[in-house]
Amino acid sequence: MTATDLPFDPDALRAKYRAERDKRVRLDGNEQYLEVAGDYSDFVDDPYIESVLERSPLDDDTEVIVIGGGFGGLLAGARLRDAGISDIRLIEKGGDFGGTWYWNRYPGAMCDVESYVYLPLLEELDYVPTEKYVHAAEILEHSRAIGAHYDLYDNACFQTEVTGMRWDDDEARWIVSTNRGDEMRAKFVVMANGPLHRPKLPGIDGITDYTGHTFHTSRWDYHYTGGGPHGDLTGLRGKRVGIIGTGATAVQCVPHLGESADELYVFQRTPSSIDVRNNRPTDPDWAASLEPGWQTERMQNFNALVSGQPQPVDLVDDGWTDIIGKLLVRIQREGADADLSPEGIAASMELADFEKMEEIRRRAQEIVDDPDTAEALKPWYRQFCKRPCFHDDYLDTFNRPSVSLVDTDGRGIDRITAGGVVANGVEYEVDCIVFATGFEVGTDYSRRAGYEVTGRLGRTLTEKWADGMETLHGIVSHEFPNLFIMSPGQAGFTVSFPHLLGEQATHIAYIIDHALANDVDSVEVEPDAEAAWVQQVIDKSRVSLPFLESCTPGYYNNEGQPEKRAAQNSTYGGGSIEYFQILADWRADGSLPGLQLTR
Ligand code: NDP
Repeated sequence: MTATDLPFDPDALRAKYRAERDKRVRLDGNEQYLEVAGDYSDFVDDPYIESVLERSPLDDDTEVIVIGGGFGGLLAGARLRDAGISDIRLIEKGGDFGGTWYWNRYPGAMCDVESYVYLPLLEELDYVPTEKYVHAAEILEHSRAIGAHYDLYDNACFQTEVTGMRWDDDEARWIVSTNRGDEMRAKFVVMANGPLHRPKLPGIDGITDYTGHTFHTSRWDYHYTGGGPHGDLTGLRGKRVGIIGTGATAVQCVPHLGESADELYVFQRTPSSIDVRNNRPTDPDWAASLEPGWQTERMQNFNALVSGQPQPVDLVDDGWTDIIGKLLVRIQREGADADLSPEGIAASMELADFEKMEEIRRRAQEIVDDPDTAEALKPWYRQFCKRPCFHDDYLDTFNRPSVSLVDTDGRGIDRITAGGVVANGVEYEVDCIVFATGFEVGTDYSRRAGYEVTGRLGRTLTEKWADGMETLHGIVSHEFPNLFIMSPGQAGFTVSFPHLLGEQATHIAYIIDHALANDVDSVEVEPDAEAAWVQQVIDKSRVSLPFLESCTPGYYNNEGQPEKRAAQNSTYGGGSIEYFQILADWRADGSLPGLQLTR
């Protein structure tokens, strides 16, 4: 098919995407958001615990402390147990395991990536989720099941927030301080803080002036709304509700708010791309037919497809993998004329993306009755500029007479008053404001972690990383012996984040096991090995810069300023498949290249 046969004009789409991006780019980038601290700290109180657990401060010594009880911490704990390590303590600020699934219990919360791929350790726990995309409560339950299966509840400290940690070089121990007055010592520490766990608020005037009820989606207030994660928010009968933000979270909870509130205003700055969800219960015959190794095979198949590597079969076959399907159809259509050079594939990929997004825009047009609302709900950017969303009720919600989309044409809301939200110069009076404004991503690592780490030379991680992250493989950093970081920074990005966490957990457990088995006191990356990895990350980051630069702002592209993010703070530009291979080859070498071991 030639450009003239296409049912859309690529040049016109490129120009439209650019214009929509340009009107949203703001000089203040990440600075536009408010840190949830000080006057705003109520927004992060835990609404899910009955009472604060009393216990005495601890000053004991543990072999491995894992900070964070989400999938990262659980996977690290599981792999450490597999390696035969018994003395482990998980520290978690929530009241139980689950991490993001502990906090995000908003109505409609569910897995966005197929659950057979997304939920970790399914084969190990002999479990198959009940739906293709399971609801949040089941994911939280699975997190608890992992904790129980690997005995990670033993010695765990919940409702405990790390406030700082420092390396004691004489004792070769980390001293971990917490908000409970603990001064715990540990030989090794794994930081599995989670990348999206510090809620953020829009930096606009008036949030503290507002006299109605308000909360962030990651601390859903069911005491106020009534109902539960399944919806039926009876407390909202007779209430006018405003929700700010239309990202992946809002897309899942808006249908429930729309169903229950007397009036719902959805304040939109940029529409999300809403593809078909098509959720369905798990077929028991299929579940019974699964052969050992099925989950790894499925995870790898999915990851390859969403990384742009065609596969003989698409095991997941959903909206995530569909774009690759469209690319393959395009290449097949072109037959022998297909240009399979990297530039040729990139050009075909762009056309496949246009085709996909035209389909998404048509879907909004077909489902939403009011033409202006339908138009405002159309996303004008490439599919992976923002987190793609999948939902079968979100768009329909705007056909309810009680639901209004307040589109701000890229500007966002103006301010908040005592009585409501001002957008496009109009005040909307509401009884409750729900902030679906997401989580901190581009801020300093320590600010996001919520604590500072002081290394062997008395420098903090923030000081060391002032000009950008410095690690080997995103996992270990010079001056910070026996410390392991689980995060996407300088590591391979995966659509299904637990896949990356699983690979990092295996890697970390390998190093710790090796150190313990060989009576090693400390493991520290050598400066040369670290510098080489940083350079590799910088070199590879150039590949994705033009794409990110063309995207509408969001946390994927540092709020429209990808060039301002230190190139070395990006994920590994060679992609997750290459990154996983690098880790596997490094382990296969057996000599822990680049690490200095001290006895
Ligand atoms: P996002 O950061 O994706 O969305 C925040 C929203 O708030 C955006 O729509 C943003 O608009 C909007 N916003 C910010 N400031 C303003 C303002 N001043 N005025 C109006 N609107 C504003 O957060 P989410 O919580 O939705 O999602 C975060 C991530 O969590 C997802 O990307 C995904 O990775 C994960 N997630 C996963 C799910 C799953 O697997 N089940 C479900 C939900 C979330 P703009 O786009 O213009 O910046």
